Amino acid sequence: MRKPFIAGNWKMNTNSATAVALAAGLAKELQGIETVDVAVCPPFVYLQSAAAALSASNIALGAQNVYFEGDGAFTGEISCAMLKDCCCTYVILGHSERRHVIGETDALINKKVKAAIDGGLLPILCVGELLEERDAGKTMDVVEAQVRGGLEGICNERIAAVTIAYEPVWAIGTGRTATKEQAQEVHQAIRALIEKLYSKDIAAAMRIQYGGSAKPSNTAELMAQPDVDGLLVGGASLKVEDFTQMIKTVA
Ligand code: PEP
Repeated sequence: MRKPFIAGNWKMNTNSATAVALAAGLAKELQGIETVDVAVCPPFVYLQSAAAALSASNIALGAQNVYFEGDGAFTGEISCAMLKDCCCTYVILGHSERRHVIGETDALINKKVKAAIDGGLLPILCVGELLEERDAGKTMDVVEAQVRGGLEGICNERIAAVTIAYEPVWAIGTGRTATKEQAQEVHQAIRALIEKLYSKDIAAAMRIQYGGSAKPSNTAELMAQPDVDGLLVGGASLKVEDFTQMIKTVA
C-alpha cells in the first residue's frame, strides 16, 4: 500500500515574509494529518526560515534543484550537503522548467538524482511530454526516455529513495489538467517500465505523483486513479486554503 505524497513546488515565488506566512499557515492547518506525506519546496533562500516555521509540523521540506558536485568552484550552485544542512528531505529534479527553460538534459538530471541519493536526499524525478509530442503520439517514448535517462545506473538498493512525478508540460501552470484517464494511462505505463527495469515489488512500492494544474476541484478524481499516488502542485500550493483542502481531500 503506497502512502499518498503531496508536494508543493513554490517555484520562484514568495518573499521572506510570505514564505514564512505560507509555511506557518500550512503547519497550523495540517496539524495531525498522518495519512498523507506532505512536503513544500520553497526557493533556496527561504529554506531555513520555512524550516523554522515547519519545525513542529509533519510537513517535510524540499528544494527545487541541486548540483551534483560536493563542493568547490561552482558559482551559483547549491550542494546536497547544503540542502541537508537546511533541513531538506526532498529535492525536485528534472522539472520541465529546468529541462525546457534552463536546458537541463537527462544526463545532467541523472547525475543530480545519483548525487541526491548518495547525499541522503529523496529525489522527485519529474518527467513529461510537450504538447507537440503528445499530439504526435510520442508521449510514452518521451516519458520512457526521461525515466530511463534519469534513473540510469541506479540499482535496486537505491531506487526506493525516488518518487517519480509525471507532469505533462502542456498542463503545467496552464489551468489545463490532464484528464484522469490520461494521467492513469501514463502512470500505469511508468509503473510497468519500473517493473521491467527493476522488479514487481519495486514497481508496486514506487510512488508516482501527477503534476499539472492540480487543484482542489480535481484532486479527488486524480487521486482515485489506481496508479496516481500523489500530486506535485505548483500554483495551488501557494495558497494555504487550496493546498490544505487538497491534502484534506486525500487524507
Ligand atoms: C509544477 O510546478 O510542478 C506544477 C505542476 O505547476 P502547476 O500546478 O501550477 O501546474
